[in-house]
Amino acid sequence: MKIKLIRSFSAAHRLPAYDGPCHDLHGHTWKAVFVIEGPIQKDGMVCDFKAVKALLDSYLPDHQFLNDLMENPTAENLAQYLFDKISPALATRGLTLKTLEIWESDNAAAILER
Ligand SMILES: [Zn+2]
Repeated sequence: MKIKLIRSFSAAHRLPAYDGPCHDLHGHTWKAVFVIEGPIQKDGMVCDFKAVKALLDSYLPDHQFLNDLMENPTAENLAQYLFDKISPALATRGLTLKTLEIWESDNAAAILER
């Protein structure tokens, strides 16, 4: 069974190698869409939504400067960074992160699928 959770966070970045307006400091309200797979437990849930939301939120760089976390914080690199952090945390609970979508606007996202 898969569950899907949508979280959001605000963070600033700049793209140092980009020739255009995104070279300069700016921010987004990023949307992170998680698809998580696991067995249905005795309580009828894959994982308590409240618990998994808290876990996911603890890894999201809310109100941070993304360039402090990585050299070139594109949506693609941010998706890879968060996937690498969150996937092992979910695995300790018997859950698999199948898909992570990082939306930097309403119409542009990077998608990482396992
Ligand atoms: Zn941007």
